[in-house]
Amino acid sequence: MTMKKELIDKLAQAGNLTDEELKSLLESGDEDEDYLFQKADARRQSIYGKEVYLRGLIEFTNYCKNNCYYCGIRCGNTKLERYRLTKDDILACCQEGYRLGYRTFVLQGGEDPFFTDEMICDIVSAIHGSYPDCAITLSIGEKEKSSYQAYFEAGARRYLLRHETANEAHYRKLHPDVMSPTHRQQCLFDLKAIGYQVGTGLMVGSPFQTTENIVEDIRFMQKLDPDMIGIGPFLTHLDTPFSKYENGSLKLTLRLIAIFRLMFPYALIPSTTALGTIHPAGREMGLKAGANVVMPNLSPTDFRKLYSLYDNKICTGDEAAECRGCLERRVKGAGYEIVNAVGDCAKLRLDGNTYPDETKMS
Ligand code: SAH
Repeated sequence: MTMKKELIDKLAQAGNLTDEELKSLLESGDEDEDYLFQKADARRQSIYGKEVYLRGLIEFTNYCKNNCYYCGIRCGNTKLERYRLTKDDILACCQEGYRLGYRTFVLQGGEDPFFTDEMICDIVSAIHGSYPDCAITLSIGEKEKSSYQAYFEAGARRYLLRHETANEAHYRKLHPDVMSPTHRQQCLFDLKAIGYQVGTGLMVGSPFQTTENIVEDIRFMQKLDPDMIGIGPFLTHLDTPFSKYENGSLKLTLRLIAIFRLMFPYALIPSTTALGTIHPAGREMGLKAGANVVMPNLSPTDFRKLYSLYDNKICTGDEAAECRGCLERRVKGAGYEIVNAVGDCAKLRLDGNTYPDETKMS
């Protein structure tokens, strides 16, 4: 038994490690990689079986008032053509998604002040009214608690807001001064207090990131106790200040997915588009390392290329139905099975706190 295997066993049993141990596990290259992934997969299967949940992603605006140095839709990128979907466009995406079996819709966008709280609430309640058996997820950045409360009352139940990095100095290297890590983290706690299922996460290999930073990320996440964890490799975008920085590492992203599965066994963990972009089989590898969600794109094909967070983003040409079929094959190929269900976090299911029709849908 190697030292790394002992660490992995300890993590699998205790769900935690010391900072030094985590650092050593994160930095251990390919050594015992298969063992780590097997343990994570066993844990995932003990809770979720082979089920993989779908999240229909609707990227409804690429306008953004923020200027994050890594992101292609930052307001400083004047080369990008901007678009917004109308309420009817968004409802049409949901209609197609519902037909394809999706029971969760994720509305994601830049921080676009054009969409007032009133408009967001109107869109959310229209979706909620038409598809009461579906979960509505928002991913529209940092807002006032009162805004989050209003979206919740309109029917949103989940919110994705990656903390990006928990280390203050590192955060400041990735964002302009007007943005702050404490505000972003406060948003996450506000969302939780309101009753949202909350997703957070980070980019792996963002410029200046150290292993110690990742350990800090993990500690922050243990405090937050998220229902969902979104991670993917940092990917270069040529029209950003980080155009000269290298992509993050596929291997480290996979290791981190496995570590998260062992530390947060109940979490919903997507195998992200960024993973599929950095390697053709990246999403399959993510599933085998412990991920249990895929997020096919439901945005109208005409606009997909314009939601360019990073270069070479995959799936920008396929119709929604093609994406569905492609993912179905990929998930099957990896040995898992897509289910058309809301797919609540298993922890919530234990509390009996599920969508009423969930049992009928799987
Ligand atoms: N405006 C929303 C949605 C942001 S886009 C918000 O603030 O949450 C969703 C995620 O894409 C971001 O949280 C970030 O982690 C990721 N992202 C942005 N640029 C990226 C890049 N260059 N490479 C990889 N991931 C990126």
